[in-house]
Amino acid sequence: MISLGEAQAFVLERVRPLPPRRVALAEALGLVLAEVVRATEAIPPFASSAMDGFAVRAVDVAAARPDHAVRLPVVAEVAAGHPVNRALAAGEAMRIFTGAPMPAGADAVVMVEHTVAEQDRSVVGVLEAVPAGLHVRDVGGDVQPGDEVFQVGEVVTPGHLGVLASIGASEVVVVPRPRVGVLSTGDELVPAGQPLGPGQIRDSNRLPLVALLGEAGMVPVDLGVVRDDEAAITEAIEAGAASCDALITSGGVSMGDIDLVKVVLDRIGDLRWMQIAIRPAKPFAFGTVGDRGTPVFGLPGNPVSSMVSFELLARPGLRRLAGHASLHQRPVRASAAEDFPRRPDGKTHYVRVGVAHLGDGSIAVRSAGQQGSHQLTAMARADGLLVLPDGDGVRAGDTVDVLLLHDARRT
Ligand code: AMP
Ligand code: MG
Repeated sequence: MISLGEAQAFVLERVRPLPPRRVALAEALGLVLAEVVRATEAIPPFASSAMDGFAVRAVDVAAARPDHAVRLPVVAEVAAGHPVNRALAAGEAMRIFTGAPMPAGADAVVMVEHTVAEQDRSVVGVLEAVPAGLHVRDVGGDVQPGDEVFQVGEVVTPGHLGVLASIGASEVVVVPRPRVGVLSTGDELVPAGQPLGPGQIRDSNRLPLVALLGEAGMVPVDLGVVRDDEAAITEAIEAGAASCDALITSGGVSMGDIDLVKVVLDRIGDLRWMQIAIRPAKPFAFGTVGDRGTPVFGLPGNPVSSMVSFELLARPGLRRLAGHASLHQRPVRASAAEDFPRRPDGKTHYVRVGVAHLGDGSIAVRSAGQQGSHQLTAMARADGLLVLPDGDGVRAGDTVDVLLLHDARRT
Protein backbone atom coordinates (compact mmCIF):
# COMPACT_ATOMS: atom_id res chain seq x y z
CA MET A 1 0.00 0.00 0.00
CA ILE A 2 1.08 3.58 -0.65
CA SER A 3 0.05 6.66 1.29
CA LEU A 4 -2.80 8.85 0.10
CA GLY A 5 -0.32 11.72 -0.21
CA GLU A 6 1.85 9.72 -2.60
CA ALA A 7 -1.15 8.78 -4.73
CA GLN A 8 -2.35 12.40 -4.84
CA ALA A 9 1.12 13.65 -5.76
CA PHE A 10 1.34 11.08 -8.58
CA VAL A 11 -1.93 12.32 -10.04
CA LEU A 12 -1.13 16.01 -9.66
CA GLU A 13 2.26 15.65 -11.37
CA ARG A 14 0.47 14.35 -14.46
CA VAL A 15 -2.32 16.88 -14.77
CA ARG A 16 -1.82 20.36 -16.28
CA PRO A 17 -4.34 23.20 -16.41
CA LEU A 18 -6.35 23.43 -19.63
CA PRO A 19 -5.34 26.14 -22.14
CA PRO A 20 -7.00 29.49 -21.29
CA ARG A 21 -10.02 30.72 -23.18
CA ARG A 22 -11.95 33.99 -23.41
CA VAL A 23 -15.50 33.61 -22.08
CA ALA A 24 -18.49 35.87 -21.52
CA LEU A 25 -18.95 37.11 -17.95
CA ALA A 26 -22.13 35.08 -17.59
CA GLU A 27 -20.09 31.91 -18.18
CA ALA A 28 -17.24 32.76 -15.83
CA LEU A 29 -18.59 32.04 -12.35
CA GLY A 30 -16.26 29.69 -10.44
CA LEU A 31 -13.56 29.68 -13.14
CA VAL A 32 -9.93 30.66 -12.56
CA LEU A 33 -8.60 33.85 -14.13
CA ALA A 34 -5.77 33.22 -16.58
CA GLU A 35 -5.03 36.89 -17.30
CA VAL A 36 -4.73 39.97 -15.13
CA VAL A 37 -7.86 42.12 -15.23
CA ARG A 38 -6.95 45.78 -15.70
CA ALA A 39 -9.49 48.56 -15.29
CA THR A 40 -9.92 51.02 -18.12
CA GLU A 41 -12.56 52.99 -16.28
CA ALA A 42 -12.78 54.48 -12.80
CA ILE A 43 -15.30 53.16 -10.31
CA PRO A 44 -17.27 55.17 -9.41
CA PRO A 45 -16.95 57.02 -12.74
CA PHE A 46 -17.93 60.40 -11.21
CA ALA A 47 -18.32 61.89 -7.73
CA SER A 48 -21.80 61.14 -6.48
CA SER A 49 -23.98 61.42 -3.42
CA ALA A 50 -24.08 58.49 -0.98
CA MET A 51 -27.33 59.75 0.60
CA ASP A 52 -30.65 61.36 -0.11
CA GLY A 53 -30.32 64.95 1.09
CA PHE A 54 -28.94 68.32 0.01
CA ALA A 55 -25.72 69.10 -1.83
CA VAL A 56 -24.07 72.14 -0.20
CA ARG A 57 -20.76 73.87 0.35
CA ALA A 58 -19.56 72.81 3.80
CA VAL A 59 -18.50 76.40 4.63
CA ASP A 60 -22.06 77.64 4.06
CA VAL A 61 -23.51 75.38 6.78
CA ALA A 62 -20.69 75.64 9.33
CA ALA A 63 -22.98 77.48 11.76
CA ALA A 64 -25.87 74.98 11.53
CA ARG A 65 -27.09 73.38 14.79
CA PRO A 66 -30.19 71.35 15.71
CA ASP A 67 -31.60 74.51 17.36
CA HIS A 68 -30.25 76.87 14.69
CA ALA A 69 -31.16 76.15 11.08
CA VAL A 70 -29.05 77.65 8.30
CA ARG A 71 -31.49 78.51 5.51
CA LEU A 72 -30.44 77.99 1.88
CA PRO A 73 -32.49 78.35 -1.31
CA VAL A 74 -33.01 75.03 -3.12
CA VAL A 75 -32.01 75.87 -6.69
CA ALA A 76 -32.25 72.48 -8.42
CA GLU A 77 -32.91 68.78 -7.98
CA VAL A 78 -30.35 66.12 -9.00
CA ALA A 79 -31.41 62.49 -9.40
CA ALA A 80 -29.37 59.42 -10.37
CA GLY A 81 -28.84 59.46 -14.11
CA HIS A 82 -29.82 63.16 -14.37
CA PRO A 83 -26.86 65.49 -13.88
CA VAL A 84 -27.60 69.24 -13.60
CA ASN A 85 -25.91 71.53 -16.07
CA ARG A 86 -25.31 74.36 -13.65
CA ALA A 87 -22.89 74.73 -10.76
CA LEU A 88 -23.85 75.33 -7.15
CA ALA A 89 -23.06 78.89 -6.13
CA ALA A 90 -22.15 80.11 -2.64
CA GLY A 91 -25.15 80.09 -0.31
CA GLU A 92 -27.19 77.63 -2.41
CA ALA A 93 -28.40 74.06 -1.91
CA MET A 94 -29.57 71.41 -4.38
CA ARG A 95 -31.87 68.55 -3.49
CA ILE A 96 -29.88 65.39 -4.32
CA PHE A 97 -30.61 61.66 -4.34
CA THR A 98 -28.35 58.66 -3.79
CA GLY A 99 -26.18 57.99 -6.83
CA ALA A 100 -26.77 61.39 -8.39
CA PRO A 101 -23.68 63.23 -9.70
CA MET A 102 -22.42 65.91 -7.30
CA PRO A 103 -22.98 69.33 -8.85
CA ALA A 104 -19.85 71.36 -9.49
CA GLY A 105 -19.22 73.73 -6.58
CA ALA A 106 -20.81 71.44 -3.93
CA ASP A 107 -18.47 69.56 -1.62
CA ALA A 108 -20.75 67.80 0.91
CA VAL A 109 -24.20 66.31 1.35
CA VAL A 110 -26.46 66.92 4.34
CA MET A 111 -28.74 63.95 4.98
CA VAL A 112 -32.41 64.75 4.54
CA GLU A 113 -32.94 63.63 8.15
CA HIS A 114 -30.88 66.63 9.30
CA THR A 115 -32.91 69.23 7.42
CA VAL A 116 -36.35 70.83 7.49
CA ALA A 117 -38.23 71.84 4.36
CA GLU A 118 -39.49 75.40 4.37
CA GLN A 119 -41.56 77.66 2.10
CA ASP A 120 -43.08 74.92 -0.01
CA ARG A 121 -39.68 73.13 -0.30
CA SER A 122 -38.03 76.07 -2.06
CA VAL A 123 -35.85 76.64 1.00
CA VAL A 124 -34.06 74.07 3.15
CA GLY A 125 -33.21 74.57 6.80
CA VAL A 126 -29.95 72.73 7.52
CA LEU A 127 -29.68 71.58 11.16
CA GLU A 128 -26.18 70.10 11.14
CA ALA A 129 -22.73 71.31 10.15
CA VAL A 130 -20.91 68.86 7.86
CA PRO A 131 -17.22 68.50 6.95
CA ALA A 132 -16.29 68.78 3.27
CA GLY A 133 -16.55 65.39 1.59
CA LEU A 134 -19.25 64.02 3.87
CA HIS A 135 -21.54 61.55 2.06
CA VAL A 136 -19.70 62.14 -1.21
CA ARG A 137 -18.40 59.10 -3.11
CA ASP A 138 -15.15 60.04 -4.78
CA VAL A 139 -14.52 59.37 -8.43
CA GLY A 140 -12.29 56.27 -8.60
CA GLY A 141 -12.83 55.66 -4.90
CA ASP A 142 -12.99 51.89 -5.50
CA VAL A 143 -10.98 51.40 -8.69
CA GLN A 144 -8.69 53.75 -10.66
CA PRO A 145 -8.18 53.42 -14.42
CA GLY A 146 -5.10 51.24 -14.99
CA ASP A 147 -5.46 49.40 -11.68
CA GLU A 148 -4.78 45.67 -11.75
CA VAL A 149 -8.13 44.76 -10.29
CA PHE A 150 -7.72 40.97 -10.28
CA GLN A 151 -4.69 38.71 -10.56
CA VAL A 152 -4.08 35.46 -12.43
CA GLY A 153 -5.30 32.52 -10.34
CA GLU A 154 -8.21 34.28 -8.64
CA VAL A 155 -11.47 32.37 -8.72
CA VAL A 156 -14.37 34.33 -10.22
CA THR A 157 -16.99 34.80 -7.48
CA PRO A 158 -20.33 36.62 -7.71
CA GLY A 159 -18.47 39.64 -6.29
CA HIS A 160 -15.86 39.46 -9.05
CA LEU A 161 -18.66 39.45 -11.63
CA GLY A 162 -20.01 42.63 -10.06
CA VAL A 163 -16.64 44.39 -10.31
CA LEU A 164 -16.09 43.14 -13.87
CA ALA A 165 -19.53 44.39 -14.86
CA SER A 166 -18.89 47.77 -13.24
CA ILE A 167 -15.61 48.32 -15.11
CA GLY A 168 -17.38 47.55 -18.36
CA ALA A 169 -15.73 44.17 -19.06
CA SER A 170 -17.85 41.81 -21.13
CA GLU A 171 -15.41 38.88 -21.28
CA VAL A 172 -12.57 37.45 -19.21
CA VAL A 173 -9.73 35.06 -19.97
CA VAL A 174 -10.06 31.99 -17.78
CA VAL A 175 -9.17 28.33 -17.58
CA PRO A 176 -12.29 26.76 -19.08
CA ARG A 177 -14.61 24.38 -17.31
CA PRO A 178 -13.26 20.84 -17.83
CA ARG A 179 -15.56 18.44 -19.67
CA VAL A 180 -15.40 15.22 -17.68
CA GLY A 181 -16.78 11.92 -18.96
CA VAL A 182 -18.30 9.45 -16.50
CA LEU A 183 -18.41 5.76 -17.28
CA SER A 184 -19.66 2.82 -15.20
CA THR A 185 -18.33 -0.68 -15.81
CA GLY A 186 -19.80 -4.03 -14.81
CA ASP A 187 -21.80 -6.90 -16.29
CA GLU A 188 -24.06 -6.80 -13.24
CA LEU A 189 -25.34 -3.27 -13.89
CA VAL A 190 -28.87 -2.72 -15.12
CA PRO A 191 -30.14 0.62 -16.44
CA ALA A 192 -32.94 2.33 -14.51
CA GLY A 193 -36.43 1.20 -15.51
CA GLN A 194 -35.46 -2.42 -16.19
CA PRO A 195 -36.29 -5.21 -13.76
CA LEU A 196 -33.39 -6.81 -11.91
CA GLY A 197 -32.43 -10.32 -13.07
CA PRO A 198 -30.54 -12.77 -10.88
CA GLY A 199 -27.26 -11.28 -9.67
CA GLN A 200 -27.99 -7.89 -11.14
CA ILE A 201 -27.91 -4.48 -9.45
CA ARG A 202 -28.62 -0.96 -10.57
CA ASP A 203 -25.90 1.50 -11.48
CA SER A 204 -25.68 3.81 -8.47
CA ASN A 205 -22.31 5.39 -9.28
CA ARG A 206 -22.86 7.38 -12.43
CA LEU A 207 -25.50 9.81 -11.17
CA PRO A 208 -23.61 10.73 -7.98
CA LEU A 209 -20.38 11.27 -9.93
CA VAL A 210 -22.16 13.34 -12.56
CA ALA A 211 -23.75 15.37 -9.75
CA LEU A 212 -20.45 15.88 -7.92
CA LEU A 213 -18.90 17.14 -11.14
CA GLY A 214 -21.76 19.55 -11.70
CA GLU A 215 -21.46 20.86 -8.14
CA ALA A 216 -17.72 21.27 -8.65
CA GLY A 217 -18.34 23.54 -11.64
CA MET A 218 -17.25 21.01 -14.27
CA VAL A 219 -19.20 19.89 -17.33
CA PRO A 220 -20.19 16.25 -16.75
CA VAL A 221 -20.61 14.04 -19.79
CA ASP A 222 -22.59 10.86 -19.09
CA LEU A 223 -20.95 8.06 -21.08
CA GLY A 224 -23.23 5.31 -19.79
CA VAL A 225 -22.44 1.75 -18.76
CA VAL A 226 -19.88 -0.55 -20.37
CA ARG A 227 -19.80 -4.32 -20.08
CA ASP A 228 -16.85 -6.19 -18.57
CA ASP A 229 -15.43 -6.73 -22.02
CA GLU A 230 -11.94 -5.63 -22.92
CA ALA A 231 -12.80 -4.43 -26.43
CA ALA A 232 -15.86 -2.51 -25.25
CA ILE A 233 -13.95 -0.84 -22.41
CA THR A 234 -11.08 0.05 -24.75
CA GLU A 235 -13.46 1.65 -27.21
CA ALA A 236 -15.34 3.58 -24.51
CA ILE A 237 -12.19 4.91 -22.88
CA GLU A 238 -10.60 5.88 -26.19
CA ALA A 239 -13.73 7.65 -27.38
CA GLY A 240 -14.18 9.37 -24.02
CA ALA A 241 -10.54 10.45 -23.87
CA ALA A 242 -10.83 11.99 -27.33
CA SER A 243 -14.02 13.95 -26.63
CA CYS A 244 -13.46 14.97 -22.98
CA ASP A 245 -10.75 16.73 -20.98
CA ALA A 246 -10.77 13.95 -18.36
CA LEU A 247 -12.50 10.65 -17.71
CA ILE A 248 -13.84 9.05 -14.56
CA THR A 249 -14.59 5.35 -14.58
CA SER A 250 -15.97 3.26 -11.76
CA GLY A 251 -15.37 -0.45 -11.23
CA GLY A 252 -12.82 -2.79 -12.67
CA VAL A 253 -9.75 -1.65 -10.76
CA SER A 254 -9.62 -4.28 -8.00
CA MET A 255 -7.59 -7.49 -7.73
CA GLY A 256 -9.93 -9.73 -9.75
CA ASP A 257 -9.26 -11.15 -13.19
CA ILE A 258 -12.24 -9.31 -14.64
CA ASP A 259 -10.99 -5.94 -13.45
CA LEU A 260 -10.53 -4.84 -17.01
CA VAL A 261 -10.32 -1.06 -16.63
CA LYS A 262 -6.93 -1.69 -15.08
CA VAL A 263 -5.96 -4.00 -17.94
CA VAL A 264 -7.11 -1.59 -20.64
CA LEU A 265 -5.45 1.46 -19.10
CA ASP A 266 -2.24 -0.50 -18.85
CA ARG A 267 -2.39 -1.33 -22.54
CA ILE A 268 -3.53 2.00 -24.03
CA GLY A 269 -2.28 4.45 -21.42
CA ASP A 270 0.52 4.82 -18.94
CA LEU A 271 -1.32 3.26 -16.05
CA ARG A 272 -0.35 3.31 -12.45
CA TRP A 273 -2.46 0.95 -10.41
CA MET A 274 -2.40 1.76 -6.73
CA GLN A 275 -3.37 0.22 -3.45
CA ILE A 276 -3.81 3.19 -1.15
CA ALA A 277 -3.72 2.97 2.64
CA ILE A 278 -7.26 4.28 3.06
CA ARG A 279 -10.65 2.76 3.75
CA PRO A 280 -12.90 2.86 1.84
CA ALA A 281 -11.45 3.26 -1.67
CA LYS A 282 -8.19 1.31 -1.44
CA PRO A 283 -7.81 0.41 -5.15
CA PHE A 284 -7.30 3.23 -7.62
CA ALA A 285 -5.97 3.40 -11.15
CA PHE A 286 -4.70 6.50 -12.88
CA GLY A 287 -3.46 6.84 -16.39
CA THR A 288 -3.24 9.29 -19.26
CA VAL A 289 -4.68 8.25 -22.60
CA GLY A 290 -4.47 9.49 -26.19
CA ASP A 291 -2.49 12.27 -27.94
CA ARG A 292 -3.67 14.91 -25.51
CA GLY A 293 -2.74 12.84 -22.47
CA THR A 294 -6.30 12.86 -21.17
CA PRO A 295 -6.25 11.92 -17.47
CA VAL A 296 -8.35 8.87 -16.59
CA PHE A 297 -9.35 8.35 -12.96
CA GLY A 298 -10.17 4.68 -12.40
CA LEU A 299 -12.29 4.69 -9.25
CA PRO A 300 -13.32 1.53 -7.42
CA GLY A 301 -16.83 0.19 -8.03
CA ASN A 302 -18.27 0.10 -4.55
CA PRO A 303 -20.63 3.08 -4.44
CA VAL A 304 -19.22 4.67 -1.26
CA SER A 305 -15.68 3.97 -2.43
CA SER A 306 -16.28 5.67 -5.75
CA MET A 307 -17.54 8.84 -4.04
CA VAL A 308 -14.75 8.90 -1.43
CA SER A 309 -12.19 8.22 -4.15
CA PHE A 310 -13.66 11.12 -6.12
CA GLU A 311 -13.20 13.43 -3.12
CA LEU A 312 -9.66 12.39 -2.28
CA LEU A 313 -8.16 11.72 -5.70
CA ALA A 314 -10.28 12.85 -8.64
CA ARG A 315 -11.37 16.21 -7.26
CA PRO A 316 -7.83 17.52 -6.59
CA GLY A 317 -6.72 16.40 -10.06
CA LEU A 318 -9.74 17.97 -11.74
CA ARG A 319 -9.20 21.18 -9.78
CA ARG A 320 -5.67 21.35 -11.18
CA LEU A 321 -7.09 20.79 -14.68
CA ALA A 322 -9.40 23.74 -14.00
CA GLY A 323 -6.44 25.91 -12.97
CA HIS A 324 -7.05 26.08 -9.23
CA ALA A 325 -4.08 26.67 -6.96
CA SER A 326 -5.75 25.24 -3.86
CA LEU A 327 -6.37 21.59 -4.63
CA HIS A 328 -6.95 19.77 -1.38
CA GLN A 329 -9.80 20.37 0.97
CA ARG A 330 -8.66 21.57 4.38
CA PRO A 331 -10.14 19.56 7.22
CA VAL A 332 -12.09 21.38 9.91
CA ARG A 333 -11.79 20.59 13.58
CA ALA A 334 -14.72 18.99 15.35
CA SER A 335 -15.42 17.11 18.53
CA ALA A 336 -16.53 13.48 18.43
CA ALA A 337 -20.05 13.24 19.85
CA GLU A 338 -19.60 9.49 20.33
CA ASP A 339 -16.87 6.84 20.33
CA PHE A 340 -15.43 5.89 16.94
CA PRO A 341 -13.67 2.58 17.65
CA ARG A 342 -11.56 0.85 15.00
CA ARG A 343 -8.70 -1.68 14.72
CA PRO A 344 -5.19 -0.91 13.54
CA ASP A 345 -4.83 -1.99 9.87
CA GLY A 346 -2.29 0.40 8.44
CA LYS A 347 -5.01 2.53 6.85
CA THR A 348 -6.65 5.89 7.46
CA HIS A 349 -10.40 5.46 7.69
CA TYR A 350 -12.88 7.97 6.32
CA VAL A 351 -16.05 7.67 8.36
CA ARG A 352 -19.31 9.08 7.07
CA VAL A 353 -20.56 11.50 9.74
CA GLY A 354 -23.33 13.99 10.34
CA VAL A 355 -22.29 17.43 11.53
CA ALA A 356 -24.09 19.31 14.32
CA HIS A 357 -23.39 22.99 14.96
CA LEU A 358 -23.18 23.65 18.69
CA GLY A 359 -24.24 26.90 20.33
CA ASP A 360 -20.65 27.99 21.00
CA GLY A 361 -19.78 27.97 17.28
CA SER A 362 -17.97 24.63 17.35
CA ILE A 363 -19.12 21.49 15.54
CA ALA A 364 -19.63 17.93 16.68
CA VAL A 365 -19.83 14.78 14.58
CA ARG A 366 -21.77 11.57 14.89
CA SER A 367 -21.85 8.51 12.65
CA ALA A 368 -24.23 8.94 9.71
CA GLY A 369 -25.06 5.21 9.70
CA GLN A 370 -23.70 1.90 8.47
CA GLN A 371 -20.14 2.24 7.25
CA GLY A 372 -19.82 -0.54 4.66
CA SER A 373 -18.41 0.61 1.32
CA HIS A 374 -21.55 -0.71 -0.37
CA GLN A 375 -23.89 1.10 2.04
CA LEU A 376 -24.69 4.39 0.35
CA THR A 377 -27.40 5.55 2.76
CA ALA A 378 -24.90 6.85 5.29
CA MET A 379 -23.04 8.60 2.49
CA ALA A 380 -26.28 10.25 1.43
CA ARG A 381 -26.88 11.50 4.97
CA ALA A 382 -23.30 12.46 5.68
CA ASP A 383 -22.16 16.06 5.95
CA GLY A 384 -18.54 15.07 6.15
CA LEU A 385 -15.86 12.40 6.33
CA LEU A 386 -14.25 11.98 9.72
CA VAL A 387 -10.53 11.30 9.21
CA LEU A 388 -9.74 8.44 11.57
CA PRO A 389 -5.97 7.79 11.66
CA ASP A 390 -4.62 4.26 11.97
CA GLY A 391 -4.96 2.98 15.53
CA ASP A 392 -7.71 2.17 17.98
CA GLY A 393 -10.06 5.01 17.10
CA VAL A 394 -11.18 8.03 19.09
CA ARG A 395 -13.39 8.55 22.13
CA ALA A 396 -16.38 10.79 22.64
CA GLY A 397 -15.14 14.31 23.34
CA ASP A 398 -11.88 13.89 21.39
CA THR A 399 -10.95 16.50 18.80
CA VAL A 400 -11.04 15.13 15.27
CA ASP A 401 -10.46 16.26 11.68
CA VAL A 402 -13.43 16.30 9.31
CA LEU A 403 -13.60 16.88 5.57
CA LEU A 404 -16.89 18.61 4.84
CA LEU A 405 -18.70 17.04 1.90
CA HIS A 406 -21.01 19.82 0.86
CA ASP A 407 -22.03 23.24 1.98
CA ALA A 408 -22.42 22.19 5.62
CA ARG A 409 -22.89 25.83 6.72
CA ARG A 410 -26.63 25.27 6.62
CA THR A 411 -26.84 21.82 8.16
P1 AMP B 1 -15.51 -3.64 -8.89
O1 AMP B 1 -14.71 -2.45 -8.45
O2 AMP B 1 -15.88 -3.62 -10.32
O3 AMP B 1 -14.85 -4.91 -8.46
O4 AMP B 1 -16.88 -3.55 -8.07
C1 AMP B 1 -16.87 -3.60 -6.66
C2 AMP B 1 -18.30 -3.67 -6.16
O5 AMP B 1 -18.98 -2.52 -6.54
C3 AMP B 1 -19.11 -4.84 -6.70
O6 AMP B 1 -19.97 -5.28 -5.69
C4 AMP B 1 -19.88 -4.21 -7.84
O7 AMP B 1 -21.09 -4.87 -8.11
C5 AMP B 1 -20.16 -2.84 -7.28
N1 AMP B 1 -20.33 -1.87 -8.33
C6 AMP B 1 -19.48 -1.65 -9.35
N2 AMP B 1 -19.95 -0.65 -10.14
C7 AMP B 1 -21.12 -0.26 -9.60
C8 AMP B 1 -22.09 0.72 -9.95
N3 AMP B 1 -21.92 1.50 -11.03
N4 AMP B 1 -23.18 0.87 -9.18
C9 AMP B 1 -23.35 0.07 -8.09
N5 AMP B 1 -22.47 -0.85 -7.68
C10 AMP B 1 -21.37 -1.04 -8.45
MG1 MG C 1 -16.76 -4.78 -11.71
